[in-house]
Amino acid sequence: MKVTLLGYVDDVERIIAACSEATRSKPSDSLLTTLSQEDARKHIARVLSRGHEGISEFAYFIFSISDVSRVLTHQLVRHRIASYLQMSSREMDLSNVDFVVPPKIKEGSKTAKIFEEAVDTARARYKELLTAGIKYEDARYLLPSCIETHISVAMNARSLNNLFGLRLCGRAQWEIRELAAKMREIVKLITPSLFWSEPRPCVRQGFCPEGKKSCGFWKSEEFQKEREKFKRGYPNE
Ligand SMILES: Cc1cc2nc3c(=O)[nH]c(=O)nc-3n(C[C@H](O)[C@H](O)[C@H](O)COP(=O)(O)OP(=O)(O)OC[C@H]3O[C@@H](n4cnc5c(N)ncnc54)[C@H](O)[C@@H]3O)c2cc1C
Repeated sequence: MKVTLLGYVDDVERIIAACSEATRSKPSDSLLTTLSQEDARKHIARVLSRGHEGISEFAYFIFSISDVSRVLTHQLVRHRIASYLQMSSREMDLSNVDFVVPPKIKEGSKTAKIFEEAVDTARARYKELLTAGIKYEDARYLLPSCIETHISVAMNARSLNNLFGLRLCGRAQWEIRELAAKMREIVKLITPSLFWSEPRPCVRQGFCPEGKKSCGFWKSEEFQKEREKFKRGYPNE
């Protein structure tokens, strides 16, 4: 999996803080000339801790995500507060694209073989359909969802926080968890004040909202320690 940040709004923490301060004083452009980044981060922390998450919508991030399965992109595009552009399987010959094998399948030699044979068969039949004159757009119907794809995503910080909360939870699937962790690592370096220090909903809320399907982490001693740590500071510290 490759995750690359293609672009973002430069200096956005200061811009957000100036716009936010401007709701109570002079216009944001004059505030921007004097506001330090440190003060901007403190301001954002205070506003977010009061639950005013709208300010994080000003910060946009554009990612390129490649070498992931169509299973992952199907889950990713369920996040509607975002914009996407994905590799077309309608316009492209996918005979030779790679595929993603889940680690649990890969680690067993028997399961890895079953998986590989099934993918090879699908690829061979796909090629036969193309040779028989079927268009890519129809031949693709028989391809498995493990085939690799790439996607570009534009998402704001509020939506990313929502994604991190849902997809870094122990219940989310391994591939999208890996993606969420990589995206979070990148954006936290750029605008730390806009992202929760603790994305997991259980630690933030004090209980697991997944009910019977819970991974059980919230009943562990480790959970109590993380919860205490979280409660001590601003949520984005
Ligand atoms: C562990 C796990 C298991 C899942 N299992 C399933 C499953 O079995 N089946 C399935 O279909 N999905 C499943 N999902 C997907 C999940 O239901 C969401 O569709 C997905 O996580 C996107 O979340 P979202 O709607 O909060 O994000 P976004 O679409 O980005 O929305 C962000 C927020 O904006 C608001 N919002 C967006 N659109 C609307 C709207 N139309 N009306 C009102 N408010 C809106 C909501 O507050 C929402 O939380 C699963 C997700 C996870 C993490």
